[in-house]
Amino acid sequence: MLRGLNMDRQLMISSLIDYAGRNHRSTEVVARTSDGVVTRSTWGDVSDRARRLAGALAAADIEQGDRVATIAWNDHRHLEAYYAITGLGAVLHTVNPRLHDEQIAYILNHAQDVIVFVDPDFLGLAERLAPLCPKVRRWITLGPDYEAFLASADPVDEWPLLDEWAAATLCYTSGTTGHPKGVLQSHRAIVLQTWATCTADGHNVNSGESILLSVPMFHVNGWAIPFAAAMSGAKLVLPGSDLSPEAIVEWINAEHVTLSAGVPTIWLSMVQHLQRTNQDIPTLRRIAVGGSAAPRSLMDTLEDDYGVFVAHVWGMTEMTQGSSGRFTNRVESLPREEQRRRQAMAGREVFGVELRVVDGEGNDIARGTKTPGELLARGPWVAGGYFGIETPDSHTADGWLRTGDVATLDDEGYITIVDRAKDVIKSGGEWISSIDLENAAVGCPGVTQAAVIGLPHDRWGERPLLLCVVDRPVEHSAILRQLAAVVPKWWLPNDVAFVEEVPLTGTGKIDKKLLRERFAGHVWSDAAN
Ligand code: AMP
Repeated sequence: MLRGLNMDRQLMISSLIDYAGRNHRSTEVVARTSDGVVTRSTWGDVSDRARRLAGALAAADIEQGDRVATIAWNDHRHLEAYYAITGLGAVLHTVNPRLHDEQIAYILNHAQDVIVFVDPDFLGLAERLAPLCPKVRRWITLGPDYEAFLASADPVDEWPLLDEWAAATLCYTSGTTGHPKGVLQSHRAIVLQTWATCTADGHNVNSGESILLSVPMFHVNGWAIPFAAAMSGAKLVLPGSDLSPEAIVEWINAEHVTLSAGVPTIWLSMVQHLQRTNQDIPTLRRIAVGGSAAPRSLMDTLEDDYGVFVAHVWGMTEMTQGSSGRFTNRVESLPREEQRRRQAMAGREVFGVELRVVDGEGNDIARGTKTPGELLARGPWVAGGYFGIETPDSHTADGWLRTGDVATLDDEGYITIVDRAKDVIKSGGEWISSIDLENAAVGCPGVTQAAVIGLPHDRWGERPLLLCVVDRPVEHSAILRQLAAVVPKWWLPNDVAFVEEVPLTGTGKIDKKLLRERFAGHVWSDAAN
């Protein structure tokens, strides 16, 4: 091999905060802590305080490879911890506080965390966890306790040089079955996916943006946006615990937010709030929506009524962003309806994450074919395995990640997510997409949320039950008529039930496992057929 003559510089997360601290020192980082106080700092402050925190962690005997956890909302201290822990060569383990106590205890013990940073909101949780997690040496509350810890040692002068393959972040998947599984990302993987996030076909994160981070920093590293904002020097707004539509709209207008990212439920409730209160969000230009399927009606309203472009993307803890929500030049010149049809899909393959769809025997299904199959992914920042456990079924023999999603790919790489493999409804040997039914139902006037689950049916094996949350009386027949216009007749739900709320998992997805349990005894109104 004739070796290239480039410098041997490893890809490291500390280079991101160094860059922002050097070149974007006065660019703002605005945060609300759980006591309601708004703190205005800058990338210069975050860089300086991350070095201080790293010094304090080193003085507390944190070594390279040690796991340090955070149970925290999105605020400046959490951001400092992101950079201090990884910069030092320790592993940032972000924990989802919405999980059950036993799951969190399992996660902390499995990861063998030695220090845990806890938001004051979760002190009760920390007290319950402490006796269950004997390996944790210290619980540090993100308030005066944290400030005292920060002030207790000298800052690190230079970030240590690490191997770019060193582990940097650990995030457990919310897995609805079995124990959560840890995705351990290297510095190299984080820097590469952050770069992808900054490309125009990624989320186009750039120094001109004011970004509201509506994705929790405990969910897939806040979709890499805390890293991408430093890489590009963008202004960052960290909203703390309050993700109510009132708070989101207030932030957008107060901080001139131009870009945001979050799960569909956040935007659905924001739109309802805007409509109710007759407010506008003139500065917001784009949002990235993913984590679950975004209904077409949401995109139409956001773009037509509020001028906000929706980049609909697909991804998972195992890779962060897996698709791009941008249009090609060719699609941009198509009629608007054609563009929207693509926008309703889950984005298109983005450079760095290769995608394939295979049938039950593992044979490739050609792109452009309507037959759905299992979506497989591979790439330099896709998880090659899980932390500390053998998962023989998680990857194919030739090393592709089995995503557990049922999908089709068209010949331009656009993904249509039919369903999670475990949620797809198998009726008479054919598949019904619960996602398509939900998205169509949310398009009905009066329906604010919808969930579809498959339940056992004597004749067909499984049939769909539609659950709706409504804000005014709506007739079953009106909903079914609306659905009949967009889905095949045999997909129509056998029953429609009205519910007070749709339960969500800790990461904002519809909790279908819980719904299937709740409606296990449902008697079909056509039970005699
Ligand atoms: P998580 O690891 O918690 O981020 O969950 C990843 C899963 O969320 C994926 O495997 C999909 O099932 C689902 N998901 C993410 N984005 C989308 C999307 N745009 N449309 C449909 N499902 C999605």
